[in-house]
Amino acid sequence: MPELPDLLYILSHLRGRLPGRQVTSERVREPVVLRFAVRGNLSLLLGRTLAEVFRKSHFLVFRFEGLDLAINPMLAGRFRLSAPGDPDEGSLGFALGFGDVELRYLDDKKMGKAYLIPRDDWNAIPGLQTGGIDILSPEFSRERFVSLLKHRRDQVRVFLLDKKALDSLGNAYADEVLFEAGIHPKTFCRSLSHEDGVRLHDAIVKVVNEAAVEVARRQQPIDVKVRDFLKVRRKQICPRCGSKLRTAGVKGMDSWFCPRCQPATRQGFVDWTRTGR
Ligand SMILES: [Zn+2]
Repeated sequence: MPELPDLLYILSHLRGRLPGRQVTSERVREPVVLRFAVRGNLSLLLGRTLAEVFRKSHFLVFRFEGLDLAINPMLAGRFRLSAPGDPDEGSLGFALGFGDVELRYLDDKKMGKAYLIPRDDWNAIPGLQTGGIDILSPEFSRERFVSLLKHRRDQVRVFLLDKKALDSLGNAYADEVLFEAGIHPKTFCRSLSHEDGVRLHDAIVKVVNEAAVEVARRQQPIDVKVRDFLKVRRKQICPRCGSKLRTAGVKGMDSWFCPRCQPATRQGFVDWTRTGR
């Protein structure tokens, strides 16, 4: 579930509650979500103090003395802070107790993974080191993005979702970004102009940052997905032109777009970012 704006909110929330606390209990309901690069299991964390929580790529990392617990929630993983005896466990994967509060990792699809590794041993986590450029970092410049785009032979929405290139967009924000930039999701990267690339870059920065502010402003519990403010994803009508939104399958993923604001060809292309509408 969590995309970058959600992860940032979860992170700030957990940072306010957990660091400095000691692990007092651990429970594992779904061993399949856990991976150990150390000899032992989750009980290794008992008695250790949580030093900090931070984001590394699309992982949340819980740093303890000598050990890091790095969690990649993938599509369906959620975090929840509960009272230790709270019976509403949902699709619990595992839980760590910190005195009077329990951190629960829930995962309907059991696709997410939590890795317990020696501190900073990132090589123990498959795929983490090949992560793409962090779209919230200063290195994510227009030049860097356009140069990445120019080397791609795939469709633009596939490129946006490629975590080896960009770190990272998911299905919801990929649709929002393409709508913001006025680009059809099936457009091939090589047919985009330099100007399109710049507009797409700026759309990523704008959409993700604005979403992060909005998700934080709502102050919902961290396992709630706040998506009602999105403009096209799972919506009916284009908020710019009033056209009925359409969906298209792009490499097995459903994509939402406006056929008028995001035309399939350059003919009839209207750059709504310049019309003041
Ligand atoms: Zn439209």
